[in-house]
Amino acid sequence: MIKRIQYLLICLSLTLTCLLSVSVCQAKKSYVTNFTTVTRKDMGNIVIKWNQNKSVTGYQIQYSQKSSFKGAKTKTVSKKTTQMTLKKLPKKTYYIRIRGYKKIRGKRKYSSYRKCKVIAWNDNWKYADSSKIHKDAAVIFYAPSKRKGKIIAINAGHGTKNGSKYKTWCHPDHSPKVTGGSTKKGEEKAACITSGTTLLNGTSEAAATLKVAKKVKSLLLTAGYDVLMLRQDSNANLDNIARTVYANQYAACHISIHFDSTKTNKGAYDCAVPNVSSYRKMYPVSAMYKKHLALGKDLISGLKAAKVKIYGKGAKDVDLTQTSYSTVPSAVIEVGDRKTSISDANVKKMAQGIVKGVKKYF
Ligand SMILES: [Zn+2]
Repeated sequence: MIKRIQYLLICLSLTLTCLLSVSVCQAKKSYVTNFTTVTRKDMGNIVIKWNQNKSVTGYQIQYSQKSSFKGAKTKTVSKKTTQMTLKKLPKKTYYIRIRGYKKIRGKRKYSSYRKCKVIAWNDNWKYADSSKIHKDAAVIFYAPSKRKGKIIAINAGHGTKNGSKYKTWCHPDHSPKVTGGSTKKGEEKAACITSGTTLLNGTSEAAATLKVAKKVKSLLLTAGYDVLMLRQDSNANLDNIARTVYANQYAACHISIHFDSTKTNKGAYDCAVPNVSSYRKMYPVSAMYKKHLALGKDLISGLKAAKVKIYGKGAKDVDLTQTSYSTVPSAVIEVGDRKTSISDANVKKMAQGIVKGVKKYF
């Protein structure tokens, strides 16, 4: 009888311990704090913004030039704070991480970290000297779990102030463009980045592409992909070549998002590598075009599976700067045109489609 009571007591205490540890785990999870944007304009201050978490007592932010965070500086702020500016830092690459915590009986219970890398431009990178505007840092956000070890560059098309003021070579070998586009066929130079069109509801193309890009970022992170964000707000001082150079350097593929200048809601398509032999023989297009086409095709099939309207066969030949300078698989996707809805629901469909496409490609 006594043995039986002992046995029951042990069972009870085990169950309680289990329940308790589960609840502590869930609590820790609920202190997780996600970055919204991390930006560095003109390589000056780093501005870190995050989503407020109502369950925490405060947030801890660490930053370091080392990925191990060895010797990192630590800042702790209250739960009401959702932004921090790091000033007077050397113009180097920085790793930053954030976590929330709750004070329970005098002790801090921390969530896991969310991490990013603010990357300083490097003039020695391939094609870096072909870019005219490259004053801001691009940022990699790391997936918290189910990590696939792949960085996807997401490029919200347009959104660079004074982009039309400077011109860059359309092709690295200075040969003329083989198709029309925002720059005419036969031109050797084009605006280093254009301002884009305006949707019929009055939203700038740059704002619409950013809305899609942010949703894609969030879904990719959840799916375990790391994301290189080439623009996070209304103005990134990075022209088309600079964005491509960053993607070439860090990403497993480069996807830029656009809306076409037509107003018929004709559907999404891939700006495919033109079938012009001189163009396909030009390096780096020669080494990459099959991969560009495959990525574009998979993204369109992902969009189709997510029930996004597709234009014709989902591809149209366009000679673009991004394609011409890419040394990683690259796709320029027109997710719609000026008439296409950018409601939350529609943007979600587009983003889900792009993520499906990425999964298919890898
Ligand atoms: Zn565009």
